Amino acid sequence: MFLKHSPTEFFKKGDAVNEKDKSKVVQLILDGEVEKALKIVCDSYGRKIPKLKVGKVKRHSKALAVYVPRKATIFLSKGSLARNPFIILHELYHHLRFSNGKHKGTEKYANEFALSFIKSYVLNFLKKKGATGKKSNQFL
Ligand SMILES: [Zn+2]
Repeated sequence: MFLKHSPTEFFKKGDAVNEKDKSKVVQLILDGEVEKALKIVCDSYGRKIPKLKVGKVKRHSKALAVYVPRKATIFLSKGSLARNPFIILHELYHHLRFSNGKHKGTEKYANEFALSFIKSYVLNFLKKKGATGKKSNQFL
């Protein structure tokens, strides 16, 4: 695969997923179709889909969500978080960046990864509403 950026950039910007699919991924999560959303992103990166479970993880009982590499599982402290695109995509980044038992990203990059999807979703939403382009000064 041709990489425009370094591997780290490639991951933190979510570059394996096109803008249209990024927007769709966020919409699917909001709609409660998290499994389909995980599949689109994992397929784009050629990775298996992580499991998703509701429950607390020892030593991380205060965390909203935790990715446990040993189990390739994202644990959510509450079921309702399955509809939170930021949390799901942040944890999914950890899943994508684990290989050979090592994590190659940071919390900051996990946030950037999640935000790159949310940005596509918001821009697409505004486009649909006709709020971008020459007449966008209604927001000034
Ligand atoms: Zn994290």
